[in-house]
Amino acid sequence: MSKSDAQLSAIIDDVVRRNPAEPEFHQAVHEVLGCLGPVLDKHPEYVDQKVVERICEPERQVMFRVPWMTDSGEVRVNRGFRVEFNSQLGPYKGGLRFHPTVTLGTIKFLGFEQVFKNAITGQRIGGGKGGSDFDPKGRSDNEVMRFCQSFMTELYRYLGEHTDVPAGDIGVGGREIGYLFGQYKRITNRYESGVLTGKGLGWGGALVRTEATGYGTTFFVSEMLKVRGRSLDGQTVVISGSGNVAIYAIEKVTQLGGQVVACSDSSGYVHDPKGIDLDLLKQIKEVERGRVSDYAERRGGAAKFVQGSSIWQIPCTVALPCATQNELNEDDARALVSNGVIAVAEGANMPSTPEAVKVFQDAGVAFGPGKAANAGGVATSGLEMQQNHSRDRWSFEYTEEKLLQIMRCIHNLAYETAEEYGVPGDYVLGANIAGFVQVADAMMAMGLV
Ligand code: NDP
Repeated sequence: MSKSDAQLSAIIDDVVRRNPAEPEFHQAVHEVLGCLGPVLDKHPEYVDQKVVERICEPERQVMFRVPWMTDSGEVRVNRGFRVEFNSQLGPYKGGLRFHPTVTLGTIKFLGFEQVFKNAITGQRIGGGKGGSDFDPKGRSDNEVMRFCQSFMTELYRYLGEHTDVPAGDIGVGGREIGYLFGQYKRITNRYESGVLTGKGLGWGGALVRTEATGYGTTFFVSEMLKVRGRSLDGQTVVISGSGNVAIYAIEKVTQLGGQVVACSDSSGYVHDPKGIDLDLLKQIKEVERGRVSDYAERRGGAAKFVQGSSIWQIPCTVALPCATQNELNEDDARALVSNGVIAVAEGANMPSTPEAVKVFQDAGVAFGPGKAANAGGVATSGLEMQQNHSRDRWSFEYTEEKLLQIMRCIHNLAYETAEEYGVPGDYVLGANIAGFVQVADAMMAMGLV
């Protein structure tokens, strides 16, 4: 073990010791720090100034009570979080997740990832993340509104368009952003458009933001295929999830000639060998807030719903995990490889376990980590902020073209950084190092922060 690797290993041990019961955060730190040995060899000043230790510690984290009332008058209490991880490159930026499994550790893992992801977008934004263990599933619009109002009544004091700018994530879409923005505006008496992104188009939102993460992941996988002399045209594609990221990944893959044969939700997956009917899926998921099992029913005999089993057993050449963390394990990766997968890009954050990533990399599969592959969402949030600041509105075509160029830049940055460090094709290493160096250099320049 090199001296730098030993130093990093000691830092990881310390992070685990000081942050007990946060396994996802440990996993994310492990993944990033595992790539940094060659960087520390090159930059002993980072070691002297304890830059890695500082980056692993959030600048600020808040936890708060969120009381609210159900339609039938029962009092409920949830917990709210905001972890403001790093503001060296710009205001904290990162989504809010509403899901019953959310803990401080979940938000810290997401916030940590966000720091490096945001850095490689080139948009001068820092990293943060927030959310709650509130479950919006099955709640009425009024209940969701009351929850969001209570949540923002505490959170507003930490936000600002130059301070901290949340967006959506799992369980937080346009409806929730609307309620959150409305409450922020009431409390502060400021129409501060740039304080939240993912807003409605009629009141400060940006075209393409809804589509951005799924489209961006698709652009990223196209770039990886291009390096190998291939394209998406004619590929058989499996996409997990059926939320915001998955739906727009299905849309763009289909536009580029791929055939998406399966998608899922937390109850199971649908296999539709002739290709997912996107209009029907959108109707069920975006309008009716239904389940993928409803999709299979309405497709008659064309599609099959399978409960509780792994979507990754379905043969495909391209796989896009777009649901949630650690949804694709070593066995799933082995099944994908033996079925002939050539490229995997993560639309979700950390959906592949470390063992799964190793299987892909050992098998020579092009593997795009979420930090790079799903950065189109936050990058387009950056474009929304630009439009808010200049009181401008860009067309769909103009914004999509910008997203495409940003995803190409991110791909090339990760690819070239991996080459520079002697591990060509390793996008995990390339993205981690490229993001880390930008943040580390800014920290060095700003004194002991
Ligand atoms: P949504 O809430 O819109 O959708 C999440 C989807 O994943 C739902 O279909 C959900 O099903 C499904 N899902 C959740 N848990 C599981 C599971 N264990 N197995 C199978 N399916 C599951 O969230 P998003 O699409 O916005 O986010 C998806 C991922 O992408 C997350 O990791 C998020 O952090 C990441 N991401 C999102 C960005 C964005 O712009 N939205 C930006 C960058 C990353 P069900 O309805 O049953 O819960």
